[in-house]
Amino acid sequence: MTSQTHGISKTKYDKASLISEIKRLKRQHDALIVAHNYQIPEIQDLADYVGDSLGLSRQSALSDKKIIVFCGVHFMAETAAIFSPEKMILIPDLQAGCSLAASIDVSELKKWKKKYPDAVVVSYVNTSVEVKAESDYCCTSTNAVDIVNAIPKEKRILFIPDMFLGQYVAKITGRDIIIYPGECHVHARVRFSDMQKKIQHYPNSDFLIHPECGCVTNCMHHLASGDLDANSTYILSTGGMVKHAKKSNKKQFVVATEVGMLYPLRKENPEKEFIPLRSDMICEYMKMINLPKLRDSLKYLQYQVKVEKKVATKAYVPIRRMYEISKIKK
Ligand code: SF4
Repeated sequence: MTSQTHGISKTKYDKASLISEIKRLKRQHDALIVAHNYQIPEIQDLADYVGDSLGLSRQSALSDKKIIVFCGVHFMAETAAIFSPEKMILIPDLQAGCSLAASIDVSELKKWKKKYPDAVVVSYVNTSVEVKAESDYCCTSTNAVDIVNAIPKEKRILFIPDMFLGQYVAKITGRDIIIYPGECHVHARVRFSDMQKKIQHYPNSDFLIHPECGCVTNCMHHLASGDLDANSTYILSTGGMVKHAKKSNKKQFVVATEVGMLYPLRKENPEKEFIPLRSDMICEYMKMINLPKLRDSLKYLQYQVKVEKKVATKAYVPIRRMYEISKIKK
């Protein structure tokens, strides 16, 4: 009992001292900390900005700070480096990768392009900078449908790397899309039967489903046939989930994405209840970043993510096209 109590107080002491050290180092280096929605709560609480991957890159570019500590996964920090080549972009753990981004590399994409030479390549932002540099357009889960709709109708599209998002976009747009069979191991495990179970338990909830989820095409089929209630089932990006939860009159939400997302949803809406569709939707890459690693990142200015200028310039083209289309939509 004594040692347990001692252990708890020691952890609390360490955590508190780590937090104050991080704050001190952040001031000393005049750094900006940005954190993805899937990061652990302690990291989200220390961040100047919490959001999705492109939101974080945009905030990093808009900031006047020269040192950015990017608490997310590697491809996201690379995107920030493309946006802000003059800044020092740090990631606290270089091993923080992404199974979805790793599902296609540039040699695989080049082979695919050879096979379909007239096709237009649309790549989800969860890709490496080299893959982006070989793409025609980038997209996010929020704007993927708009991007595909903006491409001339007669063009065939290669959609990489997320097959569930690709299937979702193909269904909505009715376009001829060749979909790369990549997936995120966290979202892919979601089954329609998970939805059915939660609907039975929480019949008055709204269901917020990320389009990377393995159940998304099934959900769309059931929405179209009326088996799923279109007034309580929403396929949304993480940013869309935050907006929906804020404006909805519902008090209860079942959330189908990485469980870290529950923290910003609960923080923004303390009077509402958020339930994970599956409590094992945990991205181990996102959870690699913790307080000691964030402290070390600021203390030793490690690990800097650099992108070669030539590749960055090429990779910025599909990103810029995505923004141009998104602006037109606004
Ligand atoms: S949740 Fe999936 S897509 Fe997101 S960083 Fe983790 S592995 Fe990549």
